[in-house]
Amino acid sequence: MDLCDLSGKVAVVTGGNGGIGLGMARGLAEAGAAVVVAARNRDKSAEAVAELEGRGARALAVEVEVTSEASCRALVQTTLAELGRLDILVNNAGTNLRKQPQEYALAEWHRILETNLTSAFMCCQAAYPAMVKAGAGKIINIGSMMSIFGTSFAPAYAASKGGIVQLTKAMASAWARDNIQVNAVLPGWIDTELTQNARREVAGLHDRVLARTPADRWGVPDDLSGIAVFLGGPASDFVTGTAIPVDGGYSIQG
Ligand code: NDP
Repeated sequence: MDLCDLSGKVAVVTGGNGGIGLGMARGLAEAGAAVVVAARNRDKSAEAVAELEGRGARALAVEVEVTSEASCRALVQTTLAELGRLDILVNNAGTNLRKQPQEYALAEWHRILETNLTSAFMCCQAAYPAMVKAGAGKIINIGSMMSIFGTSFAPAYAASKGGIVQLTKAMASAWARDNIQVNAVLPGWIDTELTQNARREVAGLHDRVLARTPADRWGVPDDLSGIAVFLGGPASDFVTGTAIPVDGGYSIQG
């Protein structure tokens, strides 16, 4: 068996039209999976699909608003209608609002929690029946270094990403009997639109990250391609409930 072969598999990547999601989508596509790019911005999604197709993969853009349960369910239904199956779900869509806790409005708190955490729960629930019917499934939830550490400017984000790790364990425990593996990936500091904004807003962040990262560089989205293939395929069939840092050593630096 080729442990990296995802031929015939179908993957849904929320937030797959850029950044880390596209890095993971590239890995899954290179391994042979058909990829559904699920996000809001149609132009960005069309570009991502064109790129994946250019690499010889089957790809499809589906518009989704991950804070809406109906939209998450429609994403799964469209995937099943168009591609016939759903083997791998990557819950990657996410956002941040950088403010001190005392400055957060409750609506802002809810928006971050809904986008980063509740969305993953809703997409998992939507995908579950198809995975049970198929007798197998792979779910990859995207956490963060904020799943482990705190920071003054990201209370809701840190809460949501800590929650992702615990949600992953709970779902892994519940669905192991269905042969569905649920794991989390904790990216370190990766150069994307999200962190370009962070670097504009937080003075000194770029150099602080660099100084603390043993690999001596910021990550790039393609650094996440390999873990997607590992957690999305047969190589990880007895791996479940984990939270794996992909961070150039950031989280083990004393
Ligand atoms: P980007 O801002 O580049 O990507 C975010 C993605 O999420 C976009 O594709 C966006 O697409 C999608 N998205 C956001 N909100 C929604 C929504 N409401 N409905 C549907 N799609 C949505 O950021 P990254 O690639 O950096 O982040 C991806 C994930 O990785 C996030 O969960 C983030 O928290 C996490 N992460 C990032 C790190 C980093 O250093 N970059 C480190 C650790 C974790 P669109 O706008 O078209 O909807």
